[in-house]
Amino acid sequence: MKLCIVIPCYNEEAVLNETAAAVKNVLESLILSGEISEDSKIAFVDDGSRDKTWEIIKGLNKSDKAFEGIKLSRNKGHQNALLAGLMTVKDNFDAVISMDADLQDDISAVFDMIKSYKEGNEIVYGVRSSRKTDSVFKRATAKAFYGIMKMLGAETVSDHADYRLMSRKALAALSEFSEVNLFLRGIVPMIGFKSAIVYYERGKRAAGESKYPLKKMLSFAFEGITSLSIKPIELILRLGVIISVFGFGFLVYTLVQHLLHNTTAGWTSLIGSIWILGGLQIFSIGVIGKYIGKIYMETKRRPRYIVEENTME
Ligand code: UDP
Ligand code: MG
Repeated sequence: MKLCIVIPCYNEEAVLNETAAAVKNVLESLILSGEISEDSKIAFVDDGSRDKTWEIIKGLNKSDKAFEGIKLSRNKGHQNALLAGLMTVKDNFDAVISMDADLQDDISAVFDMIKSYKEGNEIVYGVRSSRKTDSVFKRATAKAFYGIMKMLGAETVSDHADYRLMSRKALAALSEFSEVNLFLRGIVPMIGFKSAIVYYERGKRAAGESKYPLKKMLSFAFEGITSLSIKPIELILRLGVIISVFGFGFLVYTLVQHLLHNTTAGWTSLIGSIWILGGLQIFSIGVIGKYIGKIYMETKRRPRYIVEENTME
């Protein structure tokens, strides 16, 4: 089995050499034990770093043929860098494992992933078994994120970042998703195929700083939700219906008050029209939104099906 480990890097000069050595160690012992073939690789994707990341990658490549580098023209964000790596190597390897450059994900989980792949799984998700090393804040926001994603109908694997193994077949299926805003964590479960979970402990960053401050985290969550689901639009539609119903209720109420002479002149018509018009407006936006949602999903041109096996091939 020929393996490739793909590692997106953005300004990771502080940690890259350490990471390379550690991952190389794992690769070496897998080769020694005969689990993977000798031409297995470690591919770094430089996501438009502004520091010495690319120079370090080139140096690694020169000193050891196991290291390869892919340089992006500019910073495109973690998800795109990862996708670029996966799509570049997908045809030349039996399986690809993606992981972060900062060694936060316990690299020894790679052994379990390979084992699971050999048992016939096409996708193996690395899932962190606890969040002990995270701040209370990160823990709470992460929990809220997975909760909201679930509520909105986006299927994700909880506490799974982008540490996973994908077989050549799974990657071929992934390449059928042509959408531009690709949220890998949401898309990969959509592929289907036999998959499994491997648990690991997530540590602290080996060196350097997190490239995901709160602002990026929020926009990541928002991107994730809006690129997977049009539920928010449906919520607008529902809100419109509810407010319209309220509006008519209010109208009846104010009319009764009017007939009982409990009101000042003008109040009945004013309150009635505010609520009914407000409700109808939101309702109409919701209806228009539904159509836009349909257009949006169509423009993604997602594959309508993925063939898992074909006896004729
Ligand atoms: N990363 C990237 N492009 C970016 C931001 C991050 O390729 O624009 C990479 C980064 O080098 C690391 C991984 O994505 O390998 C995860 O980033 P980080 O560790 O900063 O995120 P955190 O673990 O704090 O969520
Ligand atoms: Mg990290």
